[in-house]
Amino acid sequence: MRTLNWIILALLVLTITAAAQQSAPTPQNPQPATASQPATASPAVPPPPPAQAPPVTMSDVVDRVIEHEKALINLLAPRTPVVETYLQNLTQDPQLGPVPQDDKYFLGRMDLSESIDRSDYLKDKEKDEGMEKHLLGGFTKMFKFQYQPLGFSWMIYVDRNDFDRQHYDFRYVRREFLGDVRCLVFDVTPKKDAGRGRFLGRIWVEDQEFNIVRLNGTYAHPARNTYYFHMDSWRLNLVPGYWIPSYIYSEEGDFTAGAKNKIAFKAQTRIWGYNLKMGTPNDELTQIRVDSVKDDTPAAQDATPLAAQREWQQQAEDNVLERLERSGLLAPEGDLDKVLQTVVNNIEITNNIELPRPVRTRVLTTSPLETFSVGNTIVVSRGLIDVLPDEASLAMVLAHELAHIVLGHNLGSQYAFNDRMLFSDEGTYQNLGFKHIPEEETAADKKAIEMLKASPYAQKLDTAGLFIKALKARAPQLSALLLAHLGNSMAENGTVTRMAQLANSAPALDWNKLDQIAALPLGGRVKLNPWDNKVEMVKAQPVAITSARDKMPFEVTPFFPRLTRYGTTNAPANPTAAPATTASSANANAAPTN
Ligand SMILES: [Zn+2]
Repeated sequence: MRTLNWIILALLVLTITAAAQQSAPTPQNPQPATASQPATASPAVPPPPPAQAPPVTMSDVVDRVIEHEKALINLLAPRTPVVETYLQNLTQDPQLGPVPQDDKYFLGRMDLSESIDRSDYLKDKEKDEGMEKHLLGGFTKMFKFQYQPLGFSWMIYVDRNDFDRQHYDFRYVRREFLGDVRCLVFDVTPKKDAGRGRFLGRIWVEDQEFNIVRLNGTYAHPARNTYYFHMDSWRLNLVPGYWIPSYIYSEEGDFTAGAKNKIAFKAQTRIWGYNLKMGTPNDELTQIRVDSVKDDTPAAQDATPLAAQREWQQQAEDNVLERLERSGLLAPEGDLDKVLQTVVNNIEITNNIELPRPVRTRVLTTSPLETFSVGNTIVVSRGLIDVLPDEASLAMVLAHELAHIVLGHNLGSQYAFNDRMLFSDEGTYQNLGFKHIPEEETAADKKAIEMLKASPYAQKLDTAGLFIKALKARAPQLSALLLAHLGNSMAENGTVTRMAQLANSAPALDWNKLDQIAALPLGGRVKLNPWDNKVEMVKAQPVAITSARDKMPFEVTPFFPRLTRYGTTNAPANPTAAPATTASSANANAAPTN
């Protein structure tokens, strides 16, 4: 697969640099000179280009923009962030408008050094099903690149090699605020003989250091048999002086009467894990430190057989969590975990569940809807938290995994052997797995419903049931979103397999009933920091729904992040916001367990 990607990359690069002279300057030495940086950590962030006197003319501004874009390319060159694209092909529903017809999922690591390359997490089989087969069988050759994930990742820069005045014209449009950040807006067009695949569109430039914060447009003059889609690409000020590519929204399709274009899709690309430790060929040597067994328990004697069994499971659990975090697929521990733990505690306390070790919760950084548990830790994906309509439906999701833990369905003890942790990041899905047998799934559902009925969520299970109904309604079209990569899928072959019984007692699903929200669009709840992978709850106020088309359950939408400058993100603009309440309620609920 790497070879295939390489060939396609070569084609794209060829297309893009065909008429350009090879005048790209050698990147500045990315090796940090600072001694404070530990050898195994990510490269240090070099200082941005020094502040200069304010530019006098718009032409001066353009020079600064070009200079800062080159600095960004140098900053990111030694890094290999995770890149995820989730795409929904659309069909026109007379009532609901464009709705998903089927979907595709890509997950990989990007190498931003010389050009832009990527390697994938997904197995060849999944990739074949997700990409090549449809691509070569179902679509015409013209759209070959449309489903190449590299095509989506490409859109993080205006022009990787030739963003300069020789290749582009810049026209100042106006000033405009994006969030808290005042921007200068420019239209950018390739010069007449600049060659194929040049950026054509608009850029937003913040007005202090003149970094690009947003680009919107496409690439012009594709070569024969290639196709560039439209994109809206956003950057966040995550490190001082730099705006880091974070979100890209792509959309194609024309649903006007009589439109000829049969291809219609919308896709979200997210990039994160910029500050993950660099993978090097010597990586396996540095991983051996995992082997040391912690011996900090003040036990006076050997563990009893049962205690030894539990320690063994905890060792496996710690190994897995550490490995997942290192591969960029698990967010570091944070406040969102406390929210999930509050819900778990609520179920445990009301069911008088006492476990030898507290149940922990963690968040996967990925979009597919999945959960699994390893040892006493419940893991829930970012995408699943996004689409859940309320706390009771979150309780339903957590109760299923809690039931596995309570019933002693322990999986993953094989991962207490540390040799099993020695694999490349991209090999994560092939090397880790936490799928239960069907009998354990049924038993966990039964126990979960029992626990929910005794919990504070007992009277609120209608929305949880409605969520399952919405999942049932959309499952046949969303097989990629519903394919779990580590645990059991919530639906298989278009049929919901998880907690399906709850749907029986739920009210009828009615898309036209505007106060009935069965499932949310993706991206509405969890915010992932692309630099350090931390996750937090979004605090945005919900927007009133005015038609059935506003509901967009499980769907992707454009991005519109509220841009802020580095260091001002947590400004006390809204001191009465939710986290304080969440934290205190977590503590209040945690107290009685002791
Ligand atoms: Zn399960």
